Amino acid sequence: MNKIKKKIIILPIITLLLSLMSMIGLNLYNNKVNNKNYNHFLNDIKNKKISEVYITNTPKIKVKLTNGQTYQTDNPRSLNFKEDLLKNGIKISEHSPMTSRELIPFIVLIASSISIVFIALKNTSFKRKSRNSVDSLQSKELEEMTHNFDSVAGNEEAKESVQDVVDFLKTPEKYTSYGARMPKGVILYGEPGTGKTLLAKAVAGEAGVPFYAVSGSDFVQVYVGVGASRIRQLFKKARNKGKAVIFIDEIDAIGKKRAGESMGGSEERDQTLNALLTEMSGFNEKEGIVVIAATNRLDVLDDALLRPGRFDRHVEITLPDVRAREQIINLHLKNKPVGKINIKELAKKTAYFSGAKIENLMNEAAILACKENSTNIEDSHLNKAFSIILAGYEKQNRDYITHEDKKITAYHEIGHAMITKKILPNEKISKVTIIPSTKGAGGYTLSIPEDSLYQNKEYLRKRIMVLLGGRAAEEIAFGKNLITTGAHNDLQRSTSIAYNMVSHYGMGKTLGLLNMQELTKLNIDQKEIIEECKNLVNELYTEVKNILTKEKEMLDNLTEKLIEKESLHSEDFESI
Ligand code: ADP
Ligand code: ZN
Repeated sequence: MNKIKKKIIILPIITLLLSLMSMIGLNLYNNKVNNKNYNHFLNDIKNKKISEVYITNTPKIKVKLTNGQTYQTDNPRSLNFKEDLLKNGIKISEHSPMTSRELIPFIVLIASSISIVFIALKNTSFKRKSRNSVDSLQSKELEEMTHNFDSVAGNEEAKESVQDVVDFLKTPEKYTSYGARMPKGVILYGEPGTGKTLLAKAVAGEAGVPFYAVSGSDFVQVYVGVGASRIRQLFKKARNKGKAVIFIDEIDAIGKKRAGESMGGSEERDQTLNALLTEMSGFNEKEGIVVIAATNRLDVLDDALLRPGRFDRHVEITLPDVRAREQIINLHLKNKPVGKINIKELAKKTAYFSGAKIENLMNEAAILACKENSTNIEDSHLNKAFSIILAGYEKQNRDYITHEDKKITAYHEIGHAMITKKILPNEKISKVTIIPSTKGAGGYTLSIPEDSLYQNKEYLRKRIMVLLGGRAAEEIAFGKNLITTGAHNDLQRSTSIAYNMVSHYGMGKTLGLLNMQELTKLNIDQKEIIEECKNLVNELYTEVKNILTKEKEMLDNLTEKLIEKESLHSEDFESI
């Protein structure tokens, strides 16, 4: 490919030289042949033989006769030369004429120089690109070590669990003198955005060693052998630095449990995995290299990875609790102008948010404050950002929504809100709106769940009921035949909860305490489970309808209020 490109450049070079030569030739020819002296020229003027004169800034001027012939003569460069000619009725051009004989080489010259520049540029960018794709690791591998444990808020247990890794990286001799074997590999596992990458960087930063990062997904769909050689290169580079932290994000992409044995296309993955394991057993304890890997789920990883001497330390990174959220909020507000913000309240409101989601929330609030030219970030910005994070941006153009549609959405959302208020009184409803969001919802109800480690059977039943509240309100208000597709997502979620209760959490009758995941290895008929899920949800639906029917008046009143105001907030629900 490259060679062909290089040959192509020869073509314009040849045409460029040819055109140059012909231009020089023409010039000489012109100079030789058509020269006449100035007196001859003056005579021609007298005899009215001249039709046009081309005046330029050169020593010679060109003269065109009435019979079409041309010649050159000396440029007098006198001030009233032009006026004299005009007086004699001679046309004047201020640029020299180009005959096609002169014009063609000129155009060829320009065209060839442009194509030379073009081909040369393309060649270098092509080279640059191909270098990137072959060795894409180079650029992002080594990152600045600006992080330390202070940049990780909360996660105290996790920090504690990797503290000795930091000590070991600082003074490996100390550990070996005790005969202690340090883990060569640490796996950080937990939900996305909980700060696994951040913690790995902090370990490198605390220990003051270089940080090499790759992602398992980089190794998917590369040619056989490339992944393995990349792994070897990576370790070689790290080893050359002496001590290092090697971070492998999304380790599951290369280290997943083998499902069906002879699945095609897994050969590359196996080679990459084997290269990783070989490299890890290759370096010894004194070297001061630690591999940290991250995954969302530990249980999907191949056992070969988890054996002693490989990734034998497993550290869970959990979603932050309310105190950790407060710390994360404070951390991410540090470099921002902040007004009077109730941080404790915000920490409560962000239950089940990951660190990344909180960071996103703070950033969104800062953008909103900036857009408004507000001096500080205020509670109002945070509240708006909160809705944006959970539900997307409000649709600006809402004229197309008919009153009938608004009414359906309003009943639906009030149905959710009223059931929440009735059966989960501790859950705070922060916002109910019929303003559609850019994420596609016609309206939504935001409620803040209470922090808790477990969800009990009663709570799960209530969650299903809240989800069913929208459809139930529609049915009560408009009748059985006018229910809408608006409940699609609600039903998806309630079905999932019901199914998990019956088949995974041991909360149903059909399976009792048996777990479906284990049973599917046998070959069991699922009909009965579906039957039980249906009964469970139906029973809860009837219950929801009863509640709303009893309170029909309130349902109507709140719906009317929502249609009028478009959004309701927690105060509006105090009356329930
Ligand atoms: P993960 O690797 O678990 O998916 P990251 O480490 O990439 O998550 O986190 C993404 C971003 O979220 C971080 O860069 C940071 O801004 C923020 N973040 C997550 N957890 C925390 C935390 N505990 N303290 C401070 N910031 C956090
Ligand atoms: Zn709904």
